[in-house]
Amino acid sequence: MEDQFSILVVEDEKISRTLLEKTLIKAGYSVTSVENGQIAADLFKGSFFPIVLTDWAMPEMGGPELCRIIRQRVTEGYVYVILLTARDSKEDIVLGLKAGADDYLTKPFHPAELIARLNTGKRIVTLERSLKKANDEIRLLSVTDPLTACYNRNYLNDFFPKELQRAVRYRHKLSIILCDIDHFKNVNDTYGHLVGDEVLKGFVERIRSSTRKDVDWIARFGGEEFLVILPETDIERALWVAERLRLSVCSSPLDLASGVKISISSSFGTTGFDPARDKWDTTQETILKQADTFLYAAKNEGRNRVVGGPLEG
Ligand code: GH3
Ligand code: MG
Ligand code: MG
Ligand code: MG
Repeated sequence: MEDQFSILVVEDEKISRTLLEKTLIKAGYSVTSVENGQIAADLFKGSFFPIVLTDWAMPEMGGPELCRIIRQRVTEGYVYVILLTARDSKEDIVLGLKAGADDYLTKPFHPAELIARLNTGKRIVTLERSLKKANDEIRLLSVTDPLTACYNRNYLNDFFPKELQRAVRYRHKLSIILCDIDHFKNVNDTYGHLVGDEVLKGFVERIRSSTRKDVDWIARFGGEEFLVILPETDIERALWVAERLRLSVCSSPLDLASGVKISISSSFGTTGFDPARDKWDTTQETILKQADTFLYAAKNEGRNRVVGGPLEG
């Protein structure tokens, strides 16, 4: 348990450092100790310590400067810093706290007091971790479609333009596939809305398993319309991917959790941005409109098909 709170001890005097190590290890903490602030600051570049116990005066770099550096850096979590000092004038304490220390302890330290103050640090670090976790969950919920767990329209509106900017900047191609389930209204009318929801989930699972896991992304565009974004992909390849998606959707019935088996098909409109061919100020609206035009054609030509090509005009 204390392992989640590994402590970095920074102290130049060997005897004092050894004493701190022993006290902390006895209390169950995992301890790393170094002899000045500079080494500690360097260590922080590759490692993370939620609690730092640092001496005030040391060669190379002292405690207050180390505090300042830690506060300036972006660390993976909050770092609770306790300054150990022989000084206890009010001015020094104010200086240490201003530099970013959370607490201070005067030397020679009292073991029970040290542990008690560390417990305060642990409470703060634990609180910060739970807030961060809640915050991450809320952020994920705010960009996720609750039914299918793919991205929602908000995420698409934020990230599609960024994906497009990246394609322009690095002269990459970027393709999209707009997917729409065929006659989905019939599913709802025949089996009810809940089964319809299950079909949407099953549809997205098939799309997901037929696209590249860490590169392509899927957003729910509207009710039963989904958009697949394929970075660094040209239209020929996107047409091939869309055909693979089409087959994966219609080749066997969806085996739903409710026990029903339903065959569906879907239509696809595919297009893309090519920096060698298209205007660099092409907007996401232009690309989406083109995909929608192709999707409309796929529906008109009889559904369960892929229609696509480059941006027109
Ligand atoms: P087409 O082949 O032309 O695409 O026909 P369609 O029936 O799929 O298209 P239409 O736009 O007429 O109907 C889409 C339906 O999708 C209507 C709407 O009630 C349903 N729908 C939209 N969102 C959801 C949802 O979250 N759950 C369920 N169960 N149905 C939804
Ligand atoms: Mg010292
Ligand atoms: Mg439809
Ligand atoms: Mg539709």
